[in-house]
Amino acid sequence: MLFSTRMDKLPPYLFAEIERKIAEKKKAGVDVISLGMGDPDLPTPAYIVEEMQRQVADPRNHRYPTNAGVEEFAQAGAAFYKRRFGVDIDPEKEFLPLMGSKEGLAHICWSTLDPGDLSLVPDPGYPVYGGSSLLAGAEVKLLPLERENDFLPALDAITSEEARRAKLLFISYPNNPTAAVADGAFFEKVVAFAREYDIAVIHDNAYSELAFDGYVAPSFLATPGAKDVGAEFFSLSKPFNMTGWRVGFGVGNEQILEHLWRLKTNLDSGMFEAAQRTAAFVLNGPWDTVHEMNAIYQRRRDVLIEALQAIGLNAEKPKATIYLWVPVPSGYTSTSFAEHVLDQAAVVVTPGNGYGAAGEGFVRLSLTVPDERINEAVARIERSLTI
Ligand SMILES: *Cc1c(COP(=O)(O)O)cnc(C)c1O
Repeated sequence: MLFSTRMDKLPPYLFAEIERKIAEKKKAGVDVISLGMGDPDLPTPAYIVEEMQRQVADPRNHRYPTNAGVEEFAQAGAAFYKRRFGVDIDPEKEFLPLMGSKEGLAHICWSTLDPGDLSLVPDPGYPVYGGSSLLAGAEVKLLPLERENDFLPALDAITSEEARRAKLLFISYPNNPTAAVADGAFFEKVVAFAREYDIAVIHDNAYSELAFDGYVAPSFLATPGAKDVGAEFFSLSKPFNMTGWRVGFGVGNEQILEHLWRLKTNLDSGMFEAAQRTAAFVLNGPWDTVHEMNAIYQRRRDVLIEALQAIGLNAEKPKATIYLWVPVPSGYTSTSFAEHVLDQAAVVVTPGNGYGAAGEGFVRLSLTVPDERINEAVARIERSLTI
């Protein structure tokens, strides 16, 4: 059979070898602890499940949805953006349901990029930004996120020739995988850069609600002028333990969202209206469960950081997300350290270079496992390093 040459453009799947080893170990009966997945371990809160049960039973939700979404979801999204970020959103023109923000991140490339265009993609970064840009025929310019620069992309390192060819810029703070946060000053630089070169900015906002020690993450859209150049994709997946539900939305620049909407009318028929109405219900509050989850993640973060520091791993305390981005001990690469820990301790950590070459020298540890498993994982890593 012959397949599309487009598929050849996709980068090799770097976690394939580790996944094979995990499967092998599990088959051999080894108790593997995975700190590899960014997938909340606790179930969706009961009040959300109960609302969804009510909505599923309601026949008005059983027919084809529209891509534009139901009014109450748009209004709840706009009200949330106003209340939480001080951002004004027109629910009719500046809101678009996404079946998970990943879906929107993938399709935005198709509604924005042409072959030959440049797509500006953080390295390390969520793999969809670059992968989908390549599928759409664009070229990818990787923007290294260096520790010296607080894991923010150095926009002034982009040449003006590159900037003129660029049509799309992805950013995401609080960041996966580095757990870095950004402030208003960085977002202002992004707006100025995007204005100068007429670039559409997509801020992937999957983690603003997962923050610790009183830190409050800003929205990119709260930056003056941001709505002229960009859109933000918000997701219910991480703050509400709803990764399986596929519920997110885009807000911001009307033109960006109109093009994405028009593309999507040719691809899908919108989000299950029961899920949209449940999402509206969730966005309208209460948010006690988010605070409870943050307390849980913060405790796990502290346990893990303390233990890592005790065994000489120089891990910094993140202000947000559900990850630790940890430099590997000297003498190791990302891959060799991840393999060592898997072989000797049966603990899965994600090699940083899996998110891009600039992630070399780091591993990502996820906080989505129960405390006692975190303690056990650290004890095993400690033993493995002293052999
Ligand atoms: C988890 C994650 C997403 C995907 O969220 P969905 O809404 O579940 O598709 C997007 N971006 C980043 C950086 C993530 O970590």
